[in-house]
Amino acid sequence: MILGFSPESPQCSRAECRADAARSVVWRNPKIHTIDRRKVWLACDEHVEYLRDFLASRAFPVTVVDGVSDGSGVDLPEESR
Ligand SMILES: [Zn+2]
Repeated sequence: MILGFSPESPQCSRAECRADAARSVVWRNPKIHTIDRRKVWLACDEHVEYLRDFLASRAFPVTVVDGVSDGSGVDLPEESR
């Protein structure tokens, strides 16, 4: 089950990109999100690294899963310091 997304051809979260999403970048912001909160950016194969690096550079816990996910049940690494 996918919450919050259209069931038909979910798209990449990168600005200006209209490609179909193939992966889900799952993350949270430790400053504002509780430990079990999950945010999801969908990404095409081309932009998945860009989006992951964007979040990793801010020291947010982030992981990438294949396919379109709502983030539930996805394990995130510990907050990096
Ligand atoms: Zn893209």
